Amino acid sequence: MNRRSFIATSATGALALAVPALGHGTESNPVFAQRGYYLCFMRMPTFGLTVWKEILDDASADGANTIILWIAGAFRSKQFPITWQWAAEHQNVQKDFTRNLITHAHRRGIKVLLGFTPFGYDGVNQYPIEHPELKAVGADGKPVTEFGIGCWGWNLCPAKAESQRFMREYVREMAFEFYPEADGLFIESSDYAICHCDQCGPKFFDHEFAFVRDISSEVWVRKPDATVVVYPHYFSGAKLRFSFTEATASKQSFDPRWTLFFTPHSAALEPALIAKARGAWWWNEAPSRFDVAGIRNGVQKARDAKCSGYLPSLECYSYVMTNTEWNEPWLVGRRQIPFGFGWLKEGENPYRELPVRAIRLVFRELTSNPDLPDAELRVRIGHELFGRNWQPSDVDDLFFLFQVFNTDRDWSVPGALTTPGLVRSRAERGRLDAKKRTQLRDQLSHAQAIAERTRESRRGGLKQLHRIAQWLVDQWTPENAAVLKG
Ligand SMILES: [Zn+2]
Repeated sequence: MNRRSFIATSATGALALAVPALGHGTESNPVFAQRGYYLCFMRMPTFGLTVWKEILDDASADGANTIILWIAGAFRSKQFPITWQWAAEHQNVQKDFTRNLITHAHRRGIKVLLGFTPFGYDGVNQYPIEHPELKAVGADGKPVTEFGIGCWGWNLCPAKAESQRFMREYVREMAFEFYPEADGLFIESSDYAICHCDQCGPKFFDHEFAFVRDISSEVWVRKPDATVVVYPHYFSGAKLRFSFTEATASKQSFDPRWTLFFTPHSAALEPALIAKARGAWWWNEAPSRFDVAGIRNGVQKARDAKCSGYLPSLECYSYVMTNTEWNEPWLVGRRQIPFGFGWLKEGENPYRELPVRAIRLVFRELTSNPDLPDAELRVRIGHELFGRNWQPSDVDDLFFLFQVFNTDRDWSVPGALTTPGLVRSRAERGRLDAKKRTQLRDQLSHAQAIAERTRESRRGGLKQLHRIAQWLVDQWTPENAAVLKG
């Protein structure tokens, strides 16, 4: 479908689109051949098919044509039911709607890649509950300890035959039996640990690669045009810069059918490899952190490195935390609030709320034209979200909200001002110094000022600004606000 006409037909809700959305990139000559989002489907158990269809409709309106749907651990594997017990409440485990979702994506011109990590992370890291002998070995020579984000478990030693068998059969089941209509695989090499056993250590990535190569071949036999995205460190031979490994990357031969994936924290750009690959994608976390400058940095970096795609994170979470993550014990036992948007009901779609809507607009404009001047970007944001009579202060207020939602944030930690209980627990643990109190007091009074100023707003972006600012103010009862004093 023509992108412009789709945007026009998908402009629903209170915020009507006021400006034609196309920038300098065009469908015939786009800046990036692949554009889209990295979404942690498995960590969003509360969203059903209706919300997911909306998310993809919106992504299409943003100019996306590719979605990384990280799904391991969140489908009802028959062969390995242990992989989804942690996610028994997940809507896809309950109703298995992803096939339907992929069909919907295709109608919107979006390709869907099934995401997972070989020998680790969600789903896969549950297998050692039944097979503890497969746990990877840590640098201290002992079996690794439990780790996770949402799904806590143990990464596997890839040198063990049973680990290899499990990975192959699990991914075969996912890709060939459950979701054969998907457009390929996203094979995300772990960014936190390797195995230090006698057979792994420096050779860890060779063992991981044996699986990656075989499953890629199997996918291509069934679907020669499938996209298979892999990490560069099987091929580069470069010294890895992770903190977690003394291992070097391996030096396997590169099949040009692979698409490469590069990230700021775990896979540096490699021009020689990029030149050989079918595609090369750059990722960063900027959209999920409401970081406009980071999105600009991301698209420019991707373009300058001759990447064919920019697929950053726009993930949010809605699982119930089982273990302390990011040193925040207060969050254990509580459900994650997607993006910290506590005014929404459980299971409601957060991707149409003003801050994410604005970030999606930024993604759309900057992937279309990475050099769009900031002033012009603000004009487009103002016009589209606040209407023709928009004021520069409206956009300032929006950017202030970006800061609020990203203050002291981490993957599963919401912005401080959204969650007074978390701030109080930090204070009780001696982790709220005077400077931080001042910052949060300033944010709260700024939110109060926005709430006042927009009180009479009945429509569009200003009404949403009011709703959000007022919600923030309402969280800070006198009892809660006391913690910010002194
Ligand atoms: Zn090992």
